[in-house]
Amino acid sequence: MEDKVLIYDKSVPGRKGYTLPDTHRSEEQILAGLPEKLRRTTDAALPEVAEPEVVRHFVNLSVKNHHIERGFYPLGSCTMKYNPKLNEVAASYRGFRHQHPLAPGSTSRGCLEVMWRLSEHLSEISGFPGISLQPVAGAHGEFAGLLIMRAYHKEQGSGRRKIIIPDSAHGTNPASVSSVGYEAIEIKSNDKGIIDTVVVEAVMDDEVAGMMLTNPNTLGLFESNIAEIADIVHAHGGLMYMDGANLNANMGVFRPGDIGFDMMHFNLHKTLSTPHGGGGPGGGAIGVTKELQKYLPVPVLEKNEKGELFFNYDRPYSIGRLHTFYGNFANMVRAYAYIRIMGGAGLRKVSENAVINANYLKELLRKDYDLPFDAHCMHEFVISGNRQKKLGVKTSDISKRLLDFGVHAPTNYFPLIVPEAMMIEPTETETRETLERFASIMEQIAREAEQSPETVTSAPHSTPVRRLDEAGAARTLDVNYVG
Ligand SMILES: *Cc1c(COP(=O)(O)O)cnc(C)c1O
Repeated sequence: MEDKVLIYDKSVPGRKGYTLPDTHRSEEQILAGLPEKLRRTTDAALPEVAEPEVVRHFVNLSVKNHHIERGFYPLGSCTMKYNPKLNEVAASYRGFRHQHPLAPGSTSRGCLEVMWRLSEHLSEISGFPGISLQPVAGAHGEFAGLLIMRAYHKEQGSGRRKIIIPDSAHGTNPASVSSVGYEAIEIKSNDKGIIDTVVVEAVMDDEVAGMMLTNPNTLGLFESNIAEIADIVHAHGGLMYMDGANLNANMGVFRPGDIGFDMMHFNLHKTLSTPHGGGGPGGGAIGVTKELQKYLPVPVLEKNEKGELFFNYDRPYSIGRLHTFYGNFANMVRAYAYIRIMGGAGLRKVSENAVINANYLKELLRKDYDLPFDAHCMHEFVISGNRQKKLGVKTSDISKRLLDFGVHAPTNYFPLIVPEAMMIEPTETETRETLERFASIMEQIAREAEQSPETVTSAPHSTPVRRLDEAGAARTLDVNYVG
């Protein structure tokens, strides 16, 4: 039986799956408040479907897509860990969910308290005293941080315009640099996959506003020269930005604020367990040193003399406002709930287990795939499909084949410095059995590449749709039912 894809196709006049609450008002009374020109003249074309059909429809749709609750999701750098349901319970408490974003501070005490406590925890985790929860994505946090850097240099009276970025950096780093009107200078990682002090020394001068560094970097390697690199950048008056997207490897082990960084962003939706992966609402909180606190975006959450929390807009050095209201509040609740459930020791364990899982999986995969940087890794690692490419099987084919086994692909073709890269991040929430199953699937695909490459190059075979024109889908998106 052909599955009907659209809920409209299941519509039968007269069926319904809803009950509206009784407003105790007549239709005329309700309509009285609505100007004539805003009233409908015809009924909205809504599908008429009974409740069980609606539920089945959406459950069936949800399993057509891959998601963390369906299967393993080793998408490197994205930290696709399982998100405890308790976070959702907390985020949906009436007091949070029903709070109007324009409600005054005096009636929003609980929400402000959550933001305050979350800020304190982030400060403790990162070593930065100044926190803003306002940015809503990692990239947005980068943008905020670089605006702060620009404001700082402006006040110093210098017109620096360049930012140093390693060749292993995430694409959002150079994008953020040009968004604030700066110019990116790319430097090369050494043959061990990390940045040497000499390459920083070679480009560092009084034109350079600062440097962005991801730690551990996108190869999953710890940038062990950071303290010396920070000294070089600081000696020339520059600032150090840490891209904190990979914080899942560091919690309770290393604090960016203690080692020479001046600012960083967190990805609440990665490290601190908010569902993500469809472009949904994120959290890109930033942390800065005491010296940079005055530039934080307004409003800044502060305590008055009576110890009451309030939003301070009167901050003359602020870079201004970056988002409506105060960012994505529900994500702050999730991050806060997660931190409280885990506790300090628990967060450290998260990072330790993330690192152990990645190293274990790396060892399982090394016999079938090339390992361009053969070192102890942090929470993720990069393998290369070079060997398979020579047999006519590309990394993208391997990733498509993984879908047949109910596994999401690793991050492909990134970092750019590794040909046929597959960046794998298992996360701490996966069991040993899951890692071993994934390794045996990867082994099977490696055998197929040798013996029956067309099985891989024509994959996926068992998904509802095969190979999609992803660029076309994004550019000529059509979500209309009619016409
Ligand atoms: C995910 C990621 C970013 C960007 O974060 P978004 O929340 O997707 O904007 C930046 N750097 C690295 C290393 C990342 O993995």
